Amino acid sequence: MTRDYDLIILGSGPAGFACAMQATKFDKKALIIEANEENLGGSWINTGTVPSKALRETAKNIYSYTSKFGDFHEKKPYERFKMRDVLKYKDKVLANENNEIKKNLIKNNVHTSRGFGKIIDANTIEITDHLGSQREVTADYILVSTGAQPKPPESFKVDHNKVHDINSILNMQHIPRRISIVGGNIQSIEFATIFASLGTKVTILNENADFLSYIDYEIRDEFQKVLDLLKISLVNGVKIQNVSKNELRNCTEIRYTKAETDELMVLETEVMLYFGGRIPNSKNIGLEALGVEMDEQGYIKVNKNHKTNVDSIYAAGDVVGFPALASVSFSQGRIAACDMFGIPSSELSVNIPFGIYSIPEIASIGLTEKEAIKQGFDVTVGRSYYNNLTKADISKNRIGLLKLVFETKTFKLLGVHICGEEACELIHIGQSVLFYNGDIRFFIQNVMNYPTYSEAYKVAAFNGVNRVYKAGAKYKDLLNK
Ligand SMILES: Cc1cc2nc3c(=O)[nH]c(=O)nc-3n(C[C@H](O)[C@H](O)[C@H](O)COP(=O)(O)OP(=O)(O)OC[C@H]3O[C@@H](n4cnc5c(N)ncnc54)[C@H](O)[C@@H]3O)c2cc1C
Repeated sequence: MTRDYDLIILGSGPAGFACAMQATKFDKKALIIEANEENLGGSWINTGTVPSKALRETAKNIYSYTSKFGDFHEKKPYERFKMRDVLKYKDKVLANENNEIKKNLIKNNVHTSRGFGKIIDANTIEITDHLGSQREVTADYILVSTGAQPKPPESFKVDHNKVHDINSILNMQHIPRRISIVGGNIQSIEFATIFASLGTKVTILNENADFLSYIDYEIRDEFQKVLDLLKISLVNGVKIQNVSKNELRNCTEIRYTKAETDELMVLETEVMLYFGGRIPNSKNIGLEALGVEMDEQGYIKVNKNHKTNVDSIYAAGDVVGFPALASVSFSQGRIAACDMFGIPSSELSVNIPFGIYSIPEIASIGLTEKEAIKQGFDVTVGRSYYNNLTKADISKNRIGLLKLVFETKTFKLLGVHICGEEACELIHIGQSVLFYNGDIRFFIQNVMNYPTYSEAYKVAAFNGVNRVYKAGAKYKDLLNK
């Protein structure tokens, strides 16, 4: 039976985009349906990854300039820089990225259609456009990559004026003097350092009992120095009771209780930014009627090749849940396309790098020290603090730590954990060594450019080898093994 397309994709985020691009390399005819009338690229380009990183870039440059050459503490950046200039930079980046995605789709002959897609049967999609007109298209395969959206708070409303979510914060008209960020996820940390770098007084009201509990404990300690430097207050174990305007004091009042005391606290702030959870966009798109399996939260269940329990239907990206990253969504979309058209593809490596784009960054891959010990490894660590690196001294980015976790006997690298400038880039050096089952002597035996942040690997490796040596092993023999 001839169908209109080989593949139809719902949603043009990284999962959908990568799937379409890979399918065209197999000479397959692909259509992307996008519900957003104006922009392609999903939350990747329009409301998530790229805009937050563009905002971060300006904040980082402003902080770097005002703290190194200026008078950050006497004259706050918000007295010198305007939000409209910060936003202009971000908008230019978004316009470029939007153009880029369009160009790539056109170049690779991927068709696009604007409208809301709904699955009618295992090979048919109904598209409803913005004027309400409908048409049906058919394909051998369907990829659901509809992403996720912010989960609305229960005890207050996001009014997009004083109480923002990720969508409205990206269009704020001025740099606030005080901001309270509710939520303990990656984005809370990123935006806390973005606003603090612009001079805003930041409080994080973390709804979880602990903060960054999943990262290595020494990296967390190093990041605490960042919070202290930027004067970011952090309150853990918070339950928000309500949020209201105090006209008299011209502020927004957040009432919250703390888990351990139950005492009611009031925090006065100018604006609030809410980062609650996210909910998958899996409702009203025909999945239930077709019997596509989902979990109780609505995340679509898939196998390792991203196929659902219905043969012709695949799903990838945030709609399948953890880890909900653009980086991973690209790979998931590609793997789905390979499986659909019978092209062998490698599975995702178990070691997925993890990055937090705070200022400075946090990144990690592999086992933490505690995880490695728990798994029964005889573990040694090697550390390199940024304040011992020439590059960090030259650039005055002296807070930072790179930590190597390795097996004592074999020197086999088990994990890399970094807090500091360029951490999200540096982590990929460790990733390569991990992938090839390498050991930390790689960093000693190979010359590295100097001065660089990468030198931290060498310093940490020496530090690690020295620890083993001090523990009784023969240094010379160790390096020659
Ligand atoms: C503030 C923030 C910062 C982030 N930073 C990073 C980062 O630094 N690094 C990183 O890797 N990840 C980051 N992420 C996560 C990343 O943005 C997401 O993981 C990624 O965009 C998910 O991709 P996706 O393909 O699943 O869908 P999305 O990018 O969410 O796109 C889904 C698209 O589907 C469309 N759609 C929905 N329903 C339909 C329908 N029925 N018919 C047609 N179209 C439909 C939507 O309009 C949307 O355009 C961040 C997220 C946020 C919110």
